[in-house]
Formats: sequence, C-alpha cells, structure tokens
Amino acid sequence: MKVFKFGGASVKDAAGVKNTAAIICSDPDQLIVVVSAMGKTTDALVEVTKNYFAGNLEKARTGISTIKDYHLNIVKDLFESGNEKLQNSIVEEFEALTKRVNIPPSLNYDFEYDQIVSTGEMVSTEIVATYLNHLGRITKWIDAGHYIRTNDTWREGVIDWELTRRLLPQAFQFNENTVCLTQGFIGATNFNLTTTLGREGSDYTAAILANVMNAESVTIWKDVPGIMNADPHKYAKTYMLEKLSYREAVEMTYYGAKVIHPKTMKPLVEKLIPLYVKSFIHPEKSGSMICDIDHPMEYIPVFITKEDQILITVLPKDFSFIAEESISNLYKLFSKFRMKVNLVQQSAMNFSLAIDRPERDFDLLIQALSDHFVVHYNDGLELLTIRYFTQDAVTESTKGKTIYVEQRTRNTVRFLLK
Ligand code: ASP
Ligand code: MG
Repeated sequence: MKVFKFGGASVKDAAGVKNTAAIICSDPDQLIVVVSAMGKTTDALVEVTKNYFAGNLEKARTGISTIKDYHLNIVKDLFESGNEKLQNSIVEEFEALTKRVNIPPSLNYDFEYDQIVSTGEMVSTEIVATYLNHLGRITKWIDAGHYIRTNDTWREGVIDWELTRRLLPQAFQFNENTVCLTQGFIGATNFNLTTTLGREGSDYTAAILANVMNAESVTIWKDVPGIMNADPHKYAKTYMLEKLSYREAVEMTYYGAKVIHPKTMKPLVEKLIPLYVKSFIHPEKSGSMICDIDHPMEYIPVFITKEDQILITVLPKDFSFIAEESISNLYKLFSKFRMKVNLVQQSAMNFSLAIDRPERDFDLLIQALSDHFVVHYNDGLELLTIRYFTQDAVTESTKGKTIYVEQRTRNTVRFLLK
C-alpha cells in the first residue's frame, strides 16, 4: 500500500482534479490519498477568520460566499450534468460556516481558526472522492478527525501517537475499495473538536498515515519536477536532486525549503519509508527520492530562502550582559507568542533573532520584550542559506544586497539580507 499526497495546487480547478484522478486511477494498488484544500482556499479562510474575529462580519460573510462559489464552479466543471447531492452538501457546509460567523466568536482566535479553516479540506476531499467514485474507482472518504488525535494546541496540534496508532487502522480498512481518501492538515481532540497541524501540514498527515499503516512509500505530487537545488523562479540554472538522505532533507526543510513540511521526515525515518517528490504535470518522470542512504548527494550548492523575516535585536536596559537567564526568558516569550526563531546571533550586550513575520500579535511581542529590553527590529529581510557553498555561489547571490547577519559553518553559510 502506498500513500499519495496532493496539495492545493494540484486540485486548484477542475482540470487539476481530473489530472489528480487520472494519476490515482493509473495506479491499481491500494492507495491512501491525502488531499489539501483547493488552490488558495486556506489563505481565504484565514482571512474569513481574521474578519470574523475583528467583527468585520460583512467581509467574513462575503469571503465565505466567494469560497463557496469557487468550489461549486469546480463541481460544475467536473460533472457535465451537475451533481446535486455534492452541490447540496457543499452549500450546507458553507451555510454552517455562515451560521458560525453570525454568532460572536469565543475569546480564542486559534480555536476559531481551526474550526473555520478546516472547512477547506473537508470540502476538497468530498469533491475529489465523489469524482473518483463517479469514474468508477471505488473510494472511501474518511474523516481525519476520527483517527488523527491531537492535544488542544489549536493551530499546531500535537499528535497523540498512542491514540492515533489505535484508531487509525480501524478507519483505514480497504474492503471492496482500493482507495481510502482523507484530509491532510486536520486532527481532533478527545472532545472531537477540530484541530489543525500547522500550515502546509498535509505532508505531515501523509507521513503519519504511512508510519502507522506501514506503507511501502509516500509520494508528494507537486507542480515542480522534484526537489530542486534552488527556486527556479529566482535562479536561472537549477538542478533536480535525484536522491537525498533523510538527514539532508531535514536540514533543507529546517532552513526553509518549502517543498516538504519539516515535520514530515520523522515518522518516515522511524520505519525507513521512502518519500518521493514528483511532478503531477509529468507523472511519468521519476522525480526526487528521499531515503535511507548514507551519503547524500553530489555536492552542488543548494540555495534555500525564507522571505519575510524580521530581525529583532534586544539590548539590556542597564548595561548588563546578556546572560543565560535573560536568554531563557527571551525564549519563553518567543515560545509564548509561538514565534519561530530561524537564526540567532549573540554578542556581549545584544541578542539578535530572525523570525518569520507572524500572522498576528507582533506588536504584543514587541511590547512584552520592551518591558525587559531595549528593542530594535528590521523588517522585510530574506534569510538565505547555502549548503555546500562555493565562493562563486556566495558572491553571486549576495551581490548588491545589504547583509545584516552572516553565519558560516564548514558546509553551510547563512545570510540575512535586504
Ligand atoms: N491547506 C493547508 C495549508 O494550505 C494544509 C496544506 O496545504 O498542507 O496550509
Ligand atoms: Mg495548501
């Protein structure tokens, strides 16, 4: 049995759903298929949540209506003579969402976020499963909330492995069908309240499923040929990395390579399950493979960029040193505000950190830091990591840019640039 994961880009319109279905139908094996929300639906639902929480109800309702129409249009394009049952079900799903935003939100943004944003995956999987059944590939639709069990860290649910291991095999019984299709990104607490696993978390869902079901492989279907050594949109000449070790892949995702979610590797390494990254545009091509190899790759430079970084520098108010205790307090604050720290630099009297631009609460963080430190920050920076760097690679990619921070180890150099 294999696990396939299709992201938002692969199902962004009816043609995408047809292509996804063709890939699934051309593989006669037992398949577990994980599907994300269609196109940019998750972003749109995040906007709805923000508007709801901010009391902009008209905007929230309009947002919901636009997302509903987007899905209904896809259904219209997929089924020549329509599919009333599916259309009604989609309308119902979005009516429920509208009802939700008609009552005042709880005080917990993260909780509301999970309840609203998860709709994207519920609807997308319903559409893809219905279409597969329509084509005659018998597909069972499975609610991820029934088996992916998490704690109640909303927006970043932590997997309860014991419970998930117990419930998952009960949910994934193939019987007469050969495809079990489910949502990525979604889980549920013991009280059956929906949680999400962090943005782009569908890859992680695929890895959890593969681990528990002892799948032979996971394939992530993407709009790129495989894992590239640099972003083809930014670099003139790029290469595909054919084979990578798990370790290399973890390093790359940690530094910000967006092809795979950073949490994906751990459940796979544990059972040595290979991960393929392949193009849904050219499914016949072999793509990249991440597996249990000792050694890596041809040593060509690999460029990884993280955009929208903020460099925060804090200095003690009273001329004292930055000591272990103040660092520990600093980290507690970052963790409390759920900020992801991507780079750290320390000197006697200042401490600098680069973080992803947070979706919200940045002002609150700065305020909290200012209670203890003098705080400065720089916005709109780019964090560039080059693995296996050469001098040419460094010169080329930093040309004409202002370097705010630079860090070097034997294999890796990192720059915070503008
Ligand atoms: N739909 C979710 C997101 O866009 C999860 C995913 O795509 O993996 O973040
Ligand atoms: Mg997505």
